[in-house]
Amino acid sequence: MMVDAALAYARHGIPVLPVHSPAPGGSCSCGRARCDRPGKHPRLRHGLTEASVDPERIERWWGRWPEANIGLHTGVTMDVADVDSLQGRHALRHLLGGELPAGPQVRSGGGGWHFWFRPAGFGNRVHLLPGVDWRGQGGYVIAPPSRHASGARYRWVVRPDVEQPAAPAPLRELIAGPTPPTQSTLCVAHPDRYAAAALEAATHRVAYAAVGTRNDTLNRAAFALGRLVRAGLLDAATVTRELRAAGAWAGLGRAETTRTIRSGLDAGWRAGHRPGSLGVIAGLPQDSQCDR
Ligand SMILES: [Zn+2]
Repeated sequence: MMVDAALAYARHGIPVLPVHSPAPGGSCSCGRARCDRPGKHPRLRHGLTEASVDPERIERWWGRWPEANIGLHTGVTMDVADVDSLQGRHALRHLLGGELPAGPQVRSGGGGWHFWFRPAGFGNRVHLLPGVDWRGQGGYVIAPPSRHASGARYRWVVRPDVEQPAAPAPLRELIAGPTPPTQSTLCVAHPDRYAAAALEAATHRVAYAAVGTRNDTLNRAAFALGRLVRAGLLDAATVTRELRAAGAWAGLGRAETTRTIRSGLDAGWRAGHRPGSLGVIAGLPQDSQCDR
C-alpha cells in the first residue's frame, strides 16, 4: 500500500507529498492530454510547501488518492543525486574516483538511479553533471514504491536502513561551485539550435575525454566551434568560457587549456568561409552580450 510506505518515510522524518500517478497509455492522473511530467508532479496546489510528516494528513491524502505516487522533500534529512542515464552514472562514478556512493540507492522506474546522501546544505542543481541533477533544499524526489510512466515501480537497490554518506568533496565542490559545462549555461549570440547543440556536444566531448586525448579533443572542439563563431552562430567569449570549464573538468591545466582554446578557435576562425558577424575573435576573451 502506498499509504504505508508514505507513513514509514514520515516516521523517519522525511516530509512526504502526494504526487500524480501515471495512467495507462503513458498519460497522467492530472488528466492533461499532454502532461510533460506524468506521475512526477505534485497533487497539491502548493506542491512541495505542503509536504508533511503528519500521519493524519498523510492518511487523508492517500485516502483520497490511494495510488498517488510518493514525493519526498529533499534537503531535510537527505539530499539526492538524481541520475537519469548510464552516462550520468558513469559521470558520477568518474567524479568520485571510480566508486559509486555506498548509501541508500533507488532504481527509478525510468531506468535511472537515486543516490541518497546526508543533506549537503545546498539547493537543487540541474545538470550537475551530464545526466545528473542534485535534489537538495527546495527539491523532491519520487520514492519507492511509486510507479513510473513506463509502468515500472521505483525500487530500492540499497535500502535506506544503511547510513547515508556525506556528499564527497568533489561532489560538494560541484554543487557549490560554478556551473559546469552544460546546456543550462549556454548563452549563444544567436539562439540557433544547431550551434547550441554543437557547443554542448563539444564541451561534453572535452569534459569526458580520456587521459591522453584531452588536449587534442579540446583543440578539435575549439576548431569546430571557431567556425561557428566565424559564421556568427556562437560568440567567442561563450565558447571560451564553456571550453575552459570543460577543460578544467577534464583535468587539464588552466594555462594549457587557454592556449589550446585560443589556437583552436583561431584556426577554426581562419578556416571558416562565411564572413562573421562578430569581430571578437582576435582578443579572446572579450565581453559578450551574454556576460552580465
Ligand atoms: Zn500530469
